[in-house]
Parts: sequence; C-alpha cells; structure tokens
Amino acid sequence: MKLPENVKYILNELYKNGYEGYIVGGCVRDHLMGKEPHDYDITTSALPEEVKEIFPHTVDTGIQHGTVTVIIDKIGYEITTYRIDGEYKDNRHPEEVIFTDRLSGDLSRRDFTINAIAYNDVKGYVDLFGGIDDIKRNVIRGVGEPAKRFQEDALRMMRAVRFSAQLDFAIEENTLNALKENADLIRNISIERIREEFFKLILSDHNERLDILLNSGMTEHFLPEILDKKFDYGKINSLSRDIVVRLAYIFYGIEWGNVKKIMKRLRTDNKSMAAVTLISKYTDYEITDLYSMRKLVSLAGENIKRVIEVMCAVKNCDSEMYFNMLEEIKNDCCSLKDLELSGNDLIETGIRGKLVGEALNKALDYVMREPQKNNKDILIDYIKGVF
Ligand code: ATP
Ligand code: MG
Repeated sequence: MKLPENVKYILNELYKNGYEGYIVGGCVRDHLMGKEPHDYDITTSALPEEVKEIFPHTVDTGIQHGTVTVIIDKIGYEITTYRIDGEYKDNRHPEEVIFTDRLSGDLSRRDFTINAIAYNDVKGYVDLFGGIDDIKRNVIRGVGEPAKRFQEDALRMMRAVRFSAQLDFAIEENTLNALKENADLIRNISIERIREEFFKLILSDHNERLDILLNSGMTEHFLPEILDKKFDYGKINSLSRDIVVRLAYIFYGIEWGNVKKIMKRLRTDNKSMAAVTLISKYTDYEITDLYSMRKLVSLAGENIKRVIEVMCAVKNCDSEMYFNMLEEIKNDCCSLKDLELSGNDLIETGIRGKLVGEALNKALDYVMREPQKNNKDILIDYIKGVF
C-alpha cells in the first residue's frame, strides 16, 4: 500500500521510538476498495503523552479517548492509543477507556470487520476478523457477536445501514438479525448522532438501502412519518448531493407544518430547517408562464433552484425548461429590494400605515406581470390609480 509521505513519517517516528503504529479503519477499507482515503487514522501502542513527546505539533483533540492530533504541513492526523472499551452501561458510552499494548485488543473493539483492518509497511495487513474477505464479498459484518456489540453501542446499528448505503454492501445475515432484535435500543442514542448517520445514508449513492432502515424497527424512534411511504430510490440517488433537496423530496406529501416539526426533532441547523420547510410548501406550485415563475422566485428566494429540482423530481418532468425560464427572467425584479419604488416614495405621495406595505406588494405583483414597468414614476401612477 502506498502511504502518503507524512503518514510514513509518523509511523516511522513511532517505530524509531520503540512503539508500534498502524493506519486503521476507513482509510485501509477505502484503499482496499480502490478509493482514495479522505483521511488517515493511526493507532499506536504509544500512550498519548508519549505521542506528544515524539511530535512537535500536537493538539489534544480527544485526549480522554486516547486521541492526539499530530499536525504536519497544516494537515491533522489523529493518533489514538490502542484501547479496549470498558463496560458499557447505557448502550452508548463505555464507562471507561482502557489502554492496551496489543493491537488485537484495539481491533476487536471496532464495529465491523471491514473497519477493523490495520496496516503498516513492516507488518503488512493485520486482518484478524476476515475484513478483507468481507470487502471482497461486499458484506458488513459485526466484529465478534453482533448482538452484544449493538447492545454496547446502539449507534453501530445506524452505522451498519449507513455503510451499507455508502459502500453498496449487504449486511450479513447474523448481523442484520441482531440489528432487528436490538433496534429499540436506538432510543438511547442522541438525535444528533442518529441524524448524522441518517444524513450520510440519504446523501449516498444507494438510497435503496433505506429499505433496511425502514424494515429495521429503528425508524419509528426518530422518523415514523416516512415508514409507510414508497420511494423511487433511483430518483433519490440521482438528485443533487444536497441534504436539503433530498430531504424535501423524501418528505414530499407531508404537510409543511409537519415537515418543520420533523426538522426540529432532528435538531438540524435553522437554515436547513427553513429551506426544507419552504420547499415542502411550494413543491406542488404550478409554473405556467414567466409571471408564475417570477412569483415563485419571489417566494423561494435563494432556494429557487432547489424548489425546481424537487418539483421536477416529484412530477417526473425535465427541469431544463424551468431552468431556461429562470435564465430568461434573471434580470427581472422579483423582490421588494429590486423594486424601483420604496416605502418612503409612497409616504411622500400621502400613503400611510399598513397601506404602505400593501401598496408595495401590489406594485411588485404588477412588475412581475410586466417587468418593463419597474420604474418609479410609472409605479407611483399605478399605485395612485389603485388606492
Ligand atoms: P468514514 O469514511 O465515514 O470516515 P470511517 O470508517 O473512518 O468511515 P469513522 O466514523 O471515522 O468511520 O470511525 C473511524 C473508525 O473508528 C472506524 O473505521 C471504526 O474502526 C471505529 N469506530 C467508529 N465508530 C465506532 C463505533 N461506534 N463502535 C466501534 N468502532 C467504531
Ligand atoms: Mg473517518
């Protein structure tokens, strides 16, 4: 395996100082699958304090779990001391972290065989649980006894489904049965951690694996609203890799007020919550002419392209025509801020109170019907005629 120079340097420094060091987890898995790893995690027999003595630039990113981040060329490499997890009492956190000097201990606390392979240039691959075979067979299999592993940390069940969708792997039968039997334990996991795995699943290329989640018994605990839905998975996979778009499509048919409640329950950021809710509101909007397109732009604002994408996905229509219309109106006034008429202009003409707002909206509607009329004098004349 060809390691980046910085990684080689780290492993070599550990070795020179009398410690073992291996790359482990996602980077080894990705490499074996022919993909470029996005980061390199390192596991070592050195204790955090010892790692800090060897490398000049380190940050204590997760020192309580034994993780020190070594910074080289502004890139961070997480180095974690071999550990075995202490007893788990609440299906989520080990009571204590116990360091060990054996790689085998560290590998056996990892979730799936495909994530429990270590590698360095001296020893080659250390694959104690048949992870390489499972990668070849496209299988996700728990390390050890899956039921016990899910009881220790229930998030692993969500991770199983998420990896299945990201890698397009099946979940091995014994692991899947254990998952279904222990699904209720997901209630012990915080919504933030569930959401993170769920979003990774939705953003993957294999949303058909969402079926596993829907049939698992876990979904009822955080998203019962989608349980009875039938999805066109190919369609979801073809949508932009934009969580807002994908969620709005998945939530189609749920009343927008309830969509907002779902987003609140998932504790998403406010911007995403507002965007998904807004798209839900307008997915069934009918665009019939340029005026209705301008009107939709005024309602959707910066989310207009997302609205069109979801709308077309739902209707099974080609979005190109709508994007062409959008291009055609791109210089037209579709918001009060682009209107050549201000509240003060209206006050000067004698309009007062809440009529000012009404008049501005009337003028905007007029301009969206006839964009060439966006001119202060024309608009004042128009408003005088109406009020
Ligand atoms: P990704 O490409 O999504 O980052 P990854 O395999 O690196 O995939 P991480 O969540 O970054 O996944 O975790 C790094 C490694 O730590 C995993 O490969 C696995 O060995 C171990 N791990 C992470 N979370 C758990 C868990 N809940 N239980 C057991 N082992 C875990
Ligand atoms: Mg990772």
